[in-house]
Amino acid sequence: MIWYPYQQMKTMPPPFNVVDAEGIYLYTEDNKLIDSVSSWWSVIHGYKHPALNEAIISQVQKFSHVMLGGLTHEPLQKLSDKLQAWLPGDLDYCFFSDSGSVAVEVALKMALQYYINRGETKRTKILALEHAYHGDTFKTMEAGDDEDYHFVLNAYGPSPHVIHIPTEITALEAAFAQYHEQLNCFLVEPLLQGAGGMRMYDLAFLERARALCDAYGVLLIFDEVATGFGRTGNRFVADRVLPDILVLGKALTGGYIGHAVTVARKKVYDVFYSDDPTHALMHGPTFMGNALACSVALRSIELFDEGDYLTRIARIESITRRELLGFTDPRIREIRIMGGCVCIEAKDAATLRGYQQFAYERGVFSRPFLNCLYAMVPYIITESELIQVIDTMKAWFAQ
Ligand SMILES: *Cc1c(COP(=O)(O)O)cnc(C)c1O
Repeated sequence: MIWYPYQQMKTMPPPFNVVDAEGIYLYTEDNKLIDSVSSWWSVIHGYKHPALNEAIISQVQKFSHVMLGGLTHEPLQKLSDKLQAWLPGDLDYCFFSDSGSVAVEVALKMALQYYINRGETKRTKILALEHAYHGDTFKTMEAGDDEDYHFVLNAYGPSPHVIHIPTEITALEAAFAQYHEQLNCFLVEPLLQGAGGMRMYDLAFLERARALCDAYGVLLIFDEVATGFGRTGNRFVADRVLPDILVLGKALTGGYIGHAVTVARKKVYDVFYSDDPTHALMHGPTFMGNALACSVALRSIELFDEGDYLTRIARIESITRRELLGFTDPRIREIRIMGGCVCIEAKDAATLRGYQQFAYERGVFSRPFLNCLYAMVPYIITESELIQVIDTMKAWFAQ
């Protein structure tokens, strides 16, 4: 018996059974669907990509996996060299893990230990955003502010270790003024808060955060598990404001295999680098640096570079804006568009009930959540296919 995610098993509709997938399409026994969700925002190059398939197949013929305790390998070295060269600033030190949640856990552990290694033991608090989502493991749930997990917070009582603020500069300044001596990090999904409701905010907020983190010696962590690899229209938001620790996941492998990386700047790494064994980073997922994941991630990054993806994403954004220009409905609260993400926020979640089946009948796979009807399409989508996705959204409100 399969236990599906985020679903009441008693009432959930049967999931669509995928038998094949290619490009932007998912194939069920009797239908062909545009994947407007990119399999939780990860399949940026589409399915069954010849170059990505080839990267995995050639590696699997050598070996699929070896542990990193005492061993290393070429796909891992090539990927970390590529990330070091490709990521902005001195974000050079790559710690791999098997999922975004774990990579955020690693970032939080790094931030806490960064101060402990320096003899500062009072910096135990995390500053984070309201409506933040950073993963499903316990510390990431605690750092997050997802209503679905409030049952946990209710059971344990409010966390003494996390402070949540809205994306307003005045709130940011007030939090730093009050808590700066106790903060080890400010953890944010930059510009676009995904699972918390596709909320978008201004770069000025992050610029101010960078200045305050510098002024008070607090580490700035960008969780770009969702926003990385072009989703906001920027390659990484980290290209615009440099964090101290950057977390990447989801699209890292082009959506082929679960893998993630926590990338630290030199000033962070240096605090762990010593003759004292207790200053080492005590973490090591069994499947970190998996050779298939590294091979496909490296090829995925090459495709991103070769394919002029930022231009493609700018085109997706401009087509989306054009198609939704002037579109309104009394049931809609707001339409938000940023890069390769569009969200139609309904006033009431009930407005979206039945949409998944409606979209299925029109050849689109969609999965609204909360009161958000959204699309995060693979970047290889054509104009007419993108219009089909948006027309399906518009048609829902026209009935
Ligand atoms: C999806 C997501 C995660 C968690 O990644 P998993 O691979 O599902 O563990 C963390 N942070 C953000 C911003 C995400 O969107």
